[in-house]
Amino acid sequence: MLRDYNIGVHADRSLPTPVCSYCRTNSATSLDHVTARVRGGDLTDPNITPACTFCNSSKGPRDAPVNLPPNAPDPFVPPWFVKLGP
Ligand SMILES: [Zn+2]
Repeated sequence: MLRDYNIGVHADRSLPTPVCSYCRTNSATSLDHVTARVRGGDLTDPNITPACTFCNSSKGPRDAPVNLPPNAPDPFVPPWFVKLGP
């Protein structure tokens, strides 16, 4: 069930369907590990968050996605989004 993705520390349970906790634009299609598994992140609720495919791929083992989804609104500077690099 898609709503099963609406779990974890950053989920917004007021929404009928889960939205990506990074871009807040796309529907969540996966669960992301806030602290990546390769960096010691575990499988507990506080370390998982709903994410769209784009943000999940862009984030990888980092703390936040590097690129915004192409359909993200502009300007797009949500406080929870940390842009890394130049
Ligand atoms: Zn997203």
